[in-house]
Amino acid sequence: LPYSELTAPKEPADLKRDRENGWILEDDNRIVTFRVKTFQALADRISELFGAKVGSVVLYQMGNAIGHAGMKYTKGKITSENELGETLDRVLGARGWGRCLELTSKSMGAKKMYSARMRGTPLAHERTSNEPTCHLMRGILSGWLEAYFDGKVLESVERECASMGRPFCTFEIILGK
Ligand SMILES: [Zn+2]
Repeated sequence: LPYSELTAPKEPADLKRDRENGWILEDDNRIVTFRVKTFQALADRISELFGAKVGSVVLYQMGNAIGHAGMKYTKGKITSENELGETLDRVLGARGWGRCLELTSKSMGAKKMYSARMRGTPLAHERTSNEPTCHLMRGILSGWLEAYFDGKVLESVERECASMGRPFCTFEIILGK
């Protein structure tokens, strides 16, 4: 996450277009964009190719890599565990990935369970499903926590999903060492 977004979250970095090269730059970093519907088509294709079960693992692993990468840019700016949820909310919002409204934790012996309540996740946007659809976001959350705590996610589940008609997507992540 560019520093300007962390210090002034209400004023995200301006995007610059380099028409000569066909680039979009944000704080001098090249980004690419696509519509949420295009992104959903990509996720759907992965599920079709691999089947729902393996597809969900592939999407989870993609998200997990994104979460690890994102924390790499952000870790030095988080001063305490209490800021984790707020920072994630800011990073997601700056990137157009929705909101993290709440991130809480409770100890389970040597493990810890994190609960997150999210709104506006891309893979639940304007769609309906009988099952949770936000495997990518579940992975992002898991990778984000793994990278911050240098731990390993033992279990992760999306309990409620906006694509199932719920107001929020809620996730439970069990983190161990
Ligand atoms: Zn969801």
